[in-house]
Amino acid sequence: MMIIDLRSDTVTKPSQAMKQYMLEAELGDDVYSDDPTVNLLESTVAEHFGYESALYCASGTMTNQIAIKTHTIPGDEVICDITSHVYNYEGGGIAFNSGVQVRPIWGMDGKITASQIEAQIQPAIINLPKTALVSLENTLNKAGGNYYSLAEIAPIAELCKKYQLPLHLDGARIFNALIETKDEAKDYSKYFDSISICFSKGLGAPIGSVLVGSQEFIAKARRYRRLFGGGMRQAGVIAAGALYALKNNVDRLAEDHRRAKKIGACLADCSFVKKLIPVHTNIVIFELKDEVLSEVFLASLKKEGIIANTMGKQTIRFVTHLDFSDEMLEKLVITLNKISNLED
Ligand SMILES: *Cc1c(COP(=O)(O)O)cnc(C)c1O
Repeated sequence: MMIIDLRSDTVTKPSQAMKQYMLEAELGDDVYSDDPTVNLLESTVAEHFGYESALYCASGTMTNQIAIKTHTIPGDEVICDITSHVYNYEGGGIAFNSGVQVRPIWGMDGKITASQIEAQIQPAIINLPKTALVSLENTLNKAGGNYYSLAEIAPIAELCKKYQLPLHLDGARIFNALIETKDEAKDYSKYFDSISICFSKGLGAPIGSVLVGSQEFIAKARRYRRLFGGGMRQAGVIAAGALYALKNNVDRLAEDHRRAKKIGACLADCSFVKKLIPVHTNIVIFELKDEVLSEVFLASLKKEGIIANTMGKQTIRFVTHLDFSDEMLEKLVITLNKISNLED
């Protein structure tokens, strides 16, 4: 049976061509900054987003956590939306790695505004934690792949400059946002002090994320990568996958968005759906009606070879990706309609 894996866009496997490219990569010891493939990936990504420097890491959690560590000292506070990945899905890493606490804000569909942030910036009084960082996410995972345009980010960046607060972006799916907004990648450097970019999501590389920033910031971050045990040796063998993805798999993200929107359109007519978050990019999130238990729903999908995750008790998430084809889409739509008719 054809397995349709919609748990995440991290489930993609490197294609034959990507693996060939990885096999042929020139290698060296990256702790000595001697790996030409890692160096090429870092300089390419830095240039692409308009930054001086970049750092290749094992995961998006690592690039986010190193960024937060580099921007803060223990006792500081970071402001982010309450649904943020850095707050919810990194194992409490902000507290563990940086000794920093979070001041979460309830955003609108995951998006927070400059005035909301300004209201949470702590005055410089010794009793209060020191606001040290603002962190945004683009696209927004828990908010159904919703995204910010740079026009929406500009006032937030301006506020951060006014208060001399660094602004970090968890850009795990920044390329998905760029596909929809048509913003220039390079313009991101006007607004953010650092960005974490994943290559093992929709871009289809097996491993790795890149952190971009100023030369000074990345030099400090490189030290923390070592400290966190993330200094890799012949890392070019995996970095090559990211380089290949950058060359070949960016434009095709539009296909994932097209398919996700089709799934959304199908779900809008399904009897078992209580609430569907509008589909913006490659993430489809919907809530099941109370009488349709999520375990039962997921089991009916599984019988057809379709696997998905819950995001909370009755909330289901489908993520489209490189290895999700039109044929799979068709099978999914047929299955959803079938379940819908049974529930009617
Ligand atoms: C996937 C993801 C990350 C990084 O997760 P890793 O599993 O560590 O690669 C960070 N932020 C968001 C929003 C993500 O979806």
